[in-house]
Amino acid sequence: MISEKMMKLAQNNSAIRAMFEEGNRLAAQYGRENVYDFSLGNPNFPAPAAVKKAIVDVLDREDAVFVHGYMSNAGYESVRGAIADSLNKRFGTAFGDGNIIMSVGAAGGLNVVLRTLLNPGDEVVTFSPYFVEYGNYVRNYDGVLVAVPANTADFQPDPSMLSGMITPKTKALIINSPNNPTGVVYSAESIRKIAAVLEAKQKEYGTSIFIIADEPYRELAYDGVEVPYLTKFYKNTIVCYSWSKSLSLPGERIGYIVIPGEADEYQLVFDAACIATRVLGFVNAPSLQQLAVARCLEETTDVGAYDTNRKLLYKGLTDCGFTCAFPQGAFYMWMKTPADDREFAGAAKKYNILVVPGTSFGCPGYVRIAYCVAKATIERSLPAFKKLAQEYGL
Ligand code: PLP
Repeated sequence: MISEKMMKLAQNNSAIRAMFEEGNRLAAQYGRENVYDFSLGNPNFPAPAAVKKAIVDVLDREDAVFVHGYMSNAGYESVRGAIADSLNKRFGTAFGDGNIIMSVGAAGGLNVVLRTLLNPGDEVVTFSPYFVEYGNYVRNYDGVLVAVPANTADFQPDPSMLSGMITPKTKALIINSPNNPTGVVYSAESIRKIAAVLEAKQKEYGTSIFIIADEPYRELAYDGVEVPYLTKFYKNTIVCYSWSKSLSLPGERIGYIVIPGEADEYQLVFDAACIATRVLGFVNAPSLQQLAVARCLEETTDVGAYDTNRKLLYKGLTDCGFTCAFPQGAFYMWMKTPADDREFAGAAKKYNILVVPGTSFGCPGYVRIAYCVAKATIERSLPAFKKLAQEYGL
C-alpha cells in the first residue's frame, strides 16, 4: 500500500515509537512521577509570560484579516526585518528582510534548504553523533548523508577527518551547535578550520558547498560560552533557527532561515527556497506565531533552570561512577555506557529510566539523557541511576 521509502522509514522509526510507548506503559503501571523519562527533547518549562502577552496583543491590536491571512511565502516583511535587525545588533551582521525566510521550526527550515539544494545522489556531510532525523531529511530528496566519525576525545568536530569525506558531490555540511546529543558548543577555532577545509574543497572541485547551521539550541549556552555565528566565518552558510527550545514553543512550529547576500547565487537560492516552502505544502510559517515571536526577540526561556538541572544531573551521575561530558549548551547529557549502549538503555528501563542509545545518533557506546525535565524528576531518578551503576559494578 505505502511507498517503499515510507515503508523503510516506518520500520526505522519503530525504536523511537517503542520508547514512547514504553514510557506510557511504565507510567500507567508505576505512576508518571515514578518514571524517569529522559528520552525526549520536549522542554518541560513553560514559554516566558511575554509570549502569551504577545499573542494576546497581536489578536487584540492587529486586523484579523492581516493576522490570519496569507502573506508572501517568505513571511511578513516586517517580521523578517525585525529579525534581521536583531541579528545585526547581536552579531554585527548586515542582514535585511531579503535574507530571512520564516520557517516551520528548524525541521521545516532544514527541509526547505535541502529541497532547494539537493539533486538525487548529492551528498550532505555531518559530524557524528548527529540528530537522527538528518538521515531522513536528506533521503527525502534522494540525497546521501555522510557521517564523519565522532571525535570521542572531546566531541568537537574533527576537521582533519572532514577533508577526506568531501567529494565533488558534496552539496552541504550540517553543523549543529550547541549540539544534540553531546551538549558541546563548537569553538571558533573548530569553525575556522572547517571553513578552511570547505574553502579549499570548493576551489579544488569548482563547486559551492554550503554549511547548514542547525541552531535550535543557540540561546541555550551556559557559563557565558560563546556560540560563534557561522555566517561570519564562511560566506556560503545558511542558518536554520527555531524558537522550539529557546522559547519552549515546539508545538507552534516557528523558526526562520537566513540566506546571506554574499552566498553564491544568493538570489536564486533565496527565490528557490521561497518556492520550496510552497511545494513542500506548508506554504508559509504560521502567521500568528510570526507576529508573536517578532515581539519577543529579546526574550529567552529560563536558561537558569536548565543550568540547575545540568549541574544536578552531572553531579548525580558522576557520583554514581558514570562518565559524562559536562555540557556547555543545549539540554542533553552525553554519558558513556559501561556496556553496549542498547543493552544499557534496556537495563535502565528496569529502573524506570528511559534514555536514548547513542547508536541512534550514529555513535555507539553512549546514551543521551535529556534533562529538559522537572528538577524533581532528576532528584527522584538518582537513586535509580545508583542501582543501575551498581548493576554494572561502578
Ligand atoms: N535539529 C535538532 C538538532 C534538534 O534537536 C531538533 C529538535 O529536537 C530539530 C532540529 C527540530 O527542531 P524544530 O522543533 O524546531 O523543528
